[in-house]
Amino acid sequence: MLVSAFVMLGRVATTAGDELLASALKQLDAAAKALGLDRGMHRFLSMPERTLIVSLPVHRDDGSLEVFTGYRVQHSTGRGPGKGGIRFHPDVTLEEVQGLAMLMTWKCAVTDLPLGGAKGGVAFDPRTFSEKEIQRLTKRYTAAILPIIGPEKDIPAPDVNTDARHMAWIVDTVTMMTGQHSPEVVTGKPVELGGSRGRTEATGRGVAFVTLELLRRMGHGAEGTRVAVQGFGNVGSIAALALAEAGCRIVAISDVTGGYAIPSGIDVREAMEHVKRDPKRTLEGLKGATRISNAELLASDVDVLIPAALEGQINADNAHEVRARMIVEGANGPITAEADRKLTERDITVVPDILANAGGVVVSYFEWVQSRAQFYWELDEVERRLEIYMRRAMDLVLSKSKAYDCTPREAAFIVAVERVASAIEKRGIFP
Ligand code: GLU
Repeated sequence: MLVSAFVMLGRVATTAGDELLASALKQLDAAAKALGLDRGMHRFLSMPERTLIVSLPVHRDDGSLEVFTGYRVQHSTGRGPGKGGIRFHPDVTLEEVQGLAMLMTWKCAVTDLPLGGAKGGVAFDPRTFSEKEIQRLTKRYTAAILPIIGPEKDIPAPDVNTDARHMAWIVDTVTMMTGQHSPEVVTGKPVELGGSRGRTEATGRGVAFVTLELLRRMGHGAEGTRVAVQGFGNVGSIAALALAEAGCRIVAISDVTGGYAIPSGIDVREAMEHVKRDPKRTLEGLKGATRISNAELLASDVDVLIPAALEGQINADNAHEVRARMIVEGANGPITAEADRKLTERDITVVPDILANAGGVVVSYFEWVQSRAQFYWELDEVERRLEIYMRRAMDLVLSKSKAYDCTPREAAFIVAVERVASAIEKRGIFP
């Protein structure tokens, strides 16, 4: 009998990050069992290849010195250099970054990118910092992780609370420290600094693509399909916009200030404009909307629910309240393992994060290719290729789910774990 890898590591889940790591390990256990994976390989894939913890002293604008903790975790480089974003959030922990790094390995494998999985993070709340303070912290963090990153080693990208601005600061830091212009060290850069066209929108567009594809396969049209989206950041807002443009009715959205419902349908473009105009960049005061709680949003009477905020949002306490027939995971790990089991029992179809939100890393891969070649593609080229990668991954996952008579999540893990294990086996364990 295989012991759950989380238990094997001797840990008990207490925070959302612990829970995310525990869920990722449980999913690995299930895939390992289905594949009859070698016990040693299973253990190797349960742990990150490398973990770096750094201490970051930074001067605040008032001259005081504060010290922050940063992480960079490379879960697997079996199929290629590590790949994954950098998150700035007060809840960042080592366990969370380890879990997210592992999900990146599977995400890159399920979409067949020649990349491994990694993740980084710094534990602090960027909302209470000035732009200059965040810039100093980003540059110090970059200098601290520089020994283990690079275009052939590990390529960071944006994640929660980071975007193209931060990537530009990283390019500058690496360029200053190495004396070589280094745009290929990260993806998700501004287009004028070697970023790919379509990268910012890629995750949200990928989420919309898999949603529409699933609706089509279930014999639903998009027209009139009711959708609720939790989180109105880069992923949630773009996914909502693309789905509204395809004919869906977005009936509820939310952000840090809570939920906003308009049963006849939210004008998503107007909501995006509202956020841009708002001094705090929130949905507060959205015209025509009824205020609802986060719990009410997750329990909305809709066809599709898209959790696109943080992990652990749908858990053992609220899974029974979900009324949607389909959930598309815009965020990483928004459903805990226990909630996932409850949703499966209720026949709710879940498109897992490692497939649903893979559009971002797919276009990151395109950006890495373009930056290394110093040859940039037009937007239609990026979009055409993104669709090819997403469709291929979705076809494979859904056909595996039929073949193994399992959920799309289990199938996605089976595809990914098989690919990573096979690459490691073919390389032969060093030495
Ligand atoms: N942070 C994104 C993710 O979780 C993108 C990572 C990347 O582009 O490397 O998939």
